[in-house]
Amino acid sequence: METPDQSFFHSLTAMESSGALSEALERITKSTVSDVNNAMERLPVAWPGFLALLSGPAENHLDEIKSLAKNLTAQRFGHTVNLYIPIYLSNACINQCAYCGFNSRMDIRRKTLSLDEVGLEGERLFNEGFRNILLVAGESRKDTPLSLMEQSVRALKEMGFVFVGLEAEPLGEDEYRILGEAGLDGVTVYQETYDREMYARVHKAGPKKDYQWRLGAPERVAKAGIRSVSVGFLLGLGEFCAEAVALAAHVKYLQKRFWQTSVSVSFPRIHQAPAGFELANAVSDTRLIKLISAMRLFNPDVTLTLSTREAPALRDELFGVGINQVSAGSKTSPGAYTVIGSESSAGEQFPVVDERPPHEVAEAIKKAGLEFVWKDWDKNLRPVA
Ligand code: SF4
Repeated sequence: METPDQSFFHSLTAMESSGALSEALERITKSTVSDVNNAMERLPVAWPGFLALLSGPAENHLDEIKSLAKNLTAQRFGHTVNLYIPIYLSNACINQCAYCGFNSRMDIRRKTLSLDEVGLEGERLFNEGFRNILLVAGESRKDTPLSLMEQSVRALKEMGFVFVGLEAEPLGEDEYRILGEAGLDGVTVYQETYDREMYARVHKAGPKKDYQWRLGAPERVAKAGIRSVSVGFLLGLGEFCAEAVALAAHVKYLQKRFWQTSVSVSFPRIHQAPAGFELANAVSDTRLIKLISAMRLFNPDVTLTLSTREAPALRDELFGVGINQVSAGSKTSPGAYTVIGSESSAGEQFPVVDERPPHEVAEAIKKAGLEFVWKDWDKNLRPVA
């Protein structure tokens, strides 16, 4: 059992009740050009510098900030961008997230891959060159029991994938341990929004309503000994600066407590959502770029990921500017790579905006003066104690 000061939920609550969160937000609002200049002078930036980089005046220095982020990324990761691709295991879901095309109220064709179909999808992507796979599923214990996840992970590892990640419902520590033993390398679990009121509003029904259980998932992943965890918020739900501050605090918390786990950050942004959903806090390109650059300057060691939700031109601009991992050629419905009979029309989670095939994305990475890599990890590599 966790003691109160040992989870990010309690840390965040303490930040809110002590006024530290509002103080941080006030600091962002009051930041001046000179705060931004000071922040850029000493890298990596400390907490006050991170707040200044999120401010309005930082937007007038975006080119300089991007260039610093690019240098720091190159120093830490080399001139490389890692490629990955998602395989949708299932679009069955019992939750009602207002922003998602898989929500249980949507009238879409539901599909869960069989183990053989996971093999088909995996084989196709392996032959294309991918070695880094993200297995994605909606939340439904009936359709995607732990045993199916475990067998799928095992099958993909046996096929030769070097990194197999999972983005699905938050699981218990013992369940993550079982998946880790099957070969799972990483878990992605976005909080969607750190704002509790907004969280309650957009998660209308289903187990996902449990904010605290979801917020504790990255810690359970780390405790289960899985080597990588990816966090983030869904850009467009909560107030931008408050979400950015909570995310940065979350990352630092995880790094401090679980130094053997590598932490990544993703920046999923809502562009299109099911009818009736209103985007409360739409995020502009400028703000997205600002957040990615600030996150890199604040935290040189985290992998920063950008998905195909973003347009080609913006992705091209951000390759290497903080971003050192991208998806390419993604489809967001189960069975979509291998066209599994009529089921290939199974509903998608969100529209892919960058529809370029992987080789074109690879070309664009090269054009940005970078190398693309299909794998950046080997099981013989271990963290240095
Ligand atoms: S976001 Fe995830 S949990 Fe929510 S409806 Fe979509 S698939 Fe289900």
